[in-house]
Amino acid sequence: MEKTLEEIQKETDVWASQFERPYFSPLSMVAAMTEECGEVARVMNHLYGDKKLKQSEELKDLGDELADLLFCIVCISNDSKISLEEAWERKVEKLYGRDNERFQRKM
Ligand SMILES: [Mg+2]
Repeated sequence: MEKTLEEIQKETDVWASQFERPYFSPLSMVAAMTEECGEVARVMNHLYGDKKLKQSEELKDLGDELADLLFCIVCISNDSKISLEEAWERKVEKLYGRDNERFQRKM
């Protein structure tokens, strides 16, 4: 099922709006995002790094952890009334403009 960033933001906002306090405070959301970033790093370290899983530990799904991180980004964006689609368009403009000659292309 494909969804646009706008749809993902709306879906998250509908879900969050059922609660008395839809979003954490901005700094708490940043802290939660940082925690999730650490969980992504942990999985990557278990997959590709030197840190091995504890015997009692199960390898978490990288996609699930990336989705957790995206959820945090969506919540921060919604709370700050930021359109991720518009921000993404500005990002792509940078990639094709400012950074266009930055990396070596395939031969
Ligand atoms: Mg997580």
